[in-house]
Amino acid sequence: MLSSHPELFVISAPSGAGKSTLIKKILSDNEDFDLSISATTRMPRVGEENGVHYHFISEQEFVSLIDEDAFVEHAQVHNHRYGTLKSHIQNKLEEGKNIILDIDVQGFKQIKSSGVKNISIFILPPSFSELVERLQRRKSDSKEAIERRLENAKKEVAFYDQYDFVIINDDVTRAYNALKEVIFSKKLNTDVNLIEKILLDMLS
Ligand code: ADP
Ligand code: 5GP
Repeated sequence: MLSSHPELFVISAPSGAGKSTLIKKILSDNEDFDLSISATTRMPRVGEENGVHYHFISEQEFVSLIDEDAFVEHAQVHNHRYGTLKSHIQNKLEEGKNIILDIDVQGFKQIKSSGVKNISIFILPPSFSELVERLQRRKSDSKEAIERRLENAKKEVAFYDQYDFVIINDDVTRAYNALKEVIFSKKLNTDVNLIEKILLDMLS
């Protein structure tokens, strides 16, 4: 059943912490959740499809979208540009879907200061050495790209306390259960229709 009060969830984490793994599980278990598909100037990785994982666009196309004010937020991350499309978010929320934004700390700060209502979650790896191992095991980035991501990770974790919730992704099942608790407790709290119905009933 689709939610009558769809929510916007912002999830950030240093690259390699396991954010995509956890988001994928939420999406496959819950039909009323959808992922915002960002635009990026980075090249697709093996197995990534245009329009599914990202809208892969050129630098020129990205700049045109900025000029058209098409982004809710956009940022330069690990030497590439990434942005969340306003139209995409609006369509999904109108369809009644809860939407997950997988964005970096800079993007979250822009969402926060724009006043767009959201629930924010920061995913932490259990340690720096485990983060290094996960990035190496994933085999999706060059040595230089991994080093850049690790440097960035050190800056990003300093912002964890700006988020509503922090989840440590040590064991993936435990972290997934924690994420579900956050998401569903929020949804329960915001079932305004039901709350209003009960209030009407109690006060009549
Ligand atoms: P991110 O999206 O945050 O960059 P990924 O979800 O791609 O990270 O995870 C990075 C790597 O770590 C992947 O190979 C993934 O399978 C693995 N991974 C994710 N969570 C865990 C975990 N709790 N324990 C061990 N490995 C994990
Ligand atoms: P990756 O290249 O590994 O897919 O993503 C790199 C980083 O860019 C991740 O931290 C991811 O959350 C972030 N990112 C992806 N899309 C967006 C976006 O639209 N806006 C911002 N600000 N960051 C994004």
